[in-house]
Amino acid sequence: MESFEKIWEKIKLQLEVTLDEDVYEEHFDDINNIFKVHNNFVYLIAPNSYVKSKIESFYLNRLNALLNDHVSDKHLFKIITKEEAAEELNKSSGYEINVPEKDIENKYKTGLNNSYTFNNFVVGASNRLAYTSAMKVADQPGVFANPLYIFGEVGLGKTHLMQCVGNYVLENDVHKKILYAKTDQFIEDYARAARNKSFDAFSQKHENVDILLVDDIQFLAGKTQSQLEFFKIFEKLKDDNKQIVITSDRSASELFDIMSRLTSRFEWGLSVDINRPNLEHRILILKKKLQSETSDPELIPEEILEYIASIFDNNVRELEGALKRVLFYCTAFDYQFTVTNAEDALQNLIHSKKLSNNNYQKNSFNNILDIVSSYYNITTSDMLSKKRKKKYTFPRQMAMYILKDMYDLTYKKIGQIFNGRDHSTVIYSIEQISNDLQTDKDKKTDMETLLIKCGKKS
Ligand code: ADP
Ligand code: MG
Repeated sequence: MESFEKIWEKIKLQLEVTLDEDVYEEHFDDINNIFKVHNNFVYLIAPNSYVKSKIESFYLNRLNALLNDHVSDKHLFKIITKEEAAEELNKSSGYEINVPEKDIENKYKTGLNNSYTFNNFVVGASNRLAYTSAMKVADQPGVFANPLYIFGEVGLGKTHLMQCVGNYVLENDVHKKILYAKTDQFIEDYARAARNKSFDAFSQKHENVDILLVDDIQFLAGKTQSQLEFFKIFEKLKDDNKQIVITSDRSASELFDIMSRLTSRFEWGLSVDINRPNLEHRILILKKKLQSETSDPELIPEEILEYIASIFDNNVRELEGALKRVLFYCTAFDYQFTVTNAEDALQNLIHSKKLSNNNYQKNSFNNILDIVSSYYNITTSDMLSKKRKKKYTFPRQMAMYILKDMYDLTYKKIGQIFNGRDHSTVIYSIEQISNDLQTDKDKKTDMETLLIKCGKKS
C-alpha cells in the first residue's frame, strides 16, 4: 500500500479540482503532513481551531470517503490543531504507524458528534466536578463510577460532556462500541420494536455495547414499558461492567413518574451536577467558541465578549447563539465590532429574553422579596416562613401585594412563592394591605417607596 503521505497528496489533488478555489485554499492548502496514524485514525494538523471545526462540520465525510478509496482497511481522518499536536508530542514519543486492523466500527454509527471533546469544554467552578468525573469515567470505563449521572438545567453542557466520554474512549480504541441514545429516540425505537415484534434487535443494539450514553432520561417519565426495557438493559450492562452515562434535567431523586427501582439505581454510581457559569467562566467560554467560529479571534475586542457574557447569564447555548449573532451581524454588514453594534445585533434576543425567560422573572421575584425584607430589617427567609409575629406578617403581606401589583401573578402562584401558602391566605393578605393603603398614610408612603425600589415605573 502507498504511504499515507502519498495518499494525502492525492486526496488534496482531488479536493483541489472539486472544491472552489477559496474553499480549498482556506481549508486544505496548508495541511501538508500526516501527524500520525493510530488505531486506524489518520491525524491531520489544521492550522487553527476555526479550520478544524469547519472541516469537521462540512468536509470530514467527504475526506473519509476519499481516503477509503485508497486503503484496503477502513480508516478515518481525525483533525487536530497544532496545539493539540504539540500536546500529543509531549505526552507520547511521537509517530507511530499502526498495523491496519480489519472490521473497524464506523464511528458515525455511534450517534456521537465528534466536535464535543474535552478539549473544547471550558472548565470552571460550576462544572469542575462533573468534568473531572467524566474524565475519570472516560479513562476507566466501568470502573470509576457506574452509572455516571450528570444533571443540570438546559443548555449547560450535559450533552457535550457526555459525548466527550464517548469520543475520548473511541479515540483511544476505535473498536469500542459506543452508543449515544437520546431518551425520546429510545422510547420511539422501543415502540417501533414493539410494533414489529423485533425486541431482540432492540435489546441487542443497546446491550451489545461497551458504553451506553443516555441523554435526557427525564423523558422516560410515564413510559412504563420503556422503563422496564431500560431497566433490563441497565442491569445487563452493569453486570457486564459496561459503562453507563446518564444525563437529566434534575437529580435522580427528583425524577418524576419513573419507577423507583430504576431511579434508585441511578444513585448507585456517581451523581454530579452542572450549574450556571459565572461571568469570568462565561467570558472564557466565549473566547474558546470564538476560536472555532472565526479565523481571527483577535478581531472581537474583549469588551464585547464581556458585554455578551454579562447579558446572557443562564445558559451556554444562548450565550453561544448571541456570539454567533454578533459575528454574523458585523461581518455580513461590514460593521465594526463595537459594543453599540453588538447591542444592535442582539436587540431582539435581549427583548425576547426579557419577555419569555422564566429565570429572569424568578430572579426579579427574588429581588422583590429581598428588597421588601431588607426594608423592614428582617431576613427573606423569615419573611417567607410561617412565623406569625406582626414583625413578619406585615412585610409578608406587603410583598404579596407588590408581586400581584407588578406581575399580576395568580394568587395560587404567589402562595407557592411564599412557601406553599393557600391561595385564600394570599387573597386575604392582599385585601388587608389594600385597606391599609386607603386609611394609613405611612403605609401608603412605604408602599410607594417600595414600588419604586422594586422597579415599578409609574
Ligand atoms: P445541555 O445538554 O445541558 O442542554 P449542551 O451540552 O447541549 O447542553 O450545551 C449547549 C451548548 O453549549 C453546546 O454547544 C455546548 O458545546 C456548549 N457548552 C456548554 N457548556 C460548555 C462549556 N463548559 N464549554 C464549552 N462549551 C460549552
Ligand atoms: Mg442536552
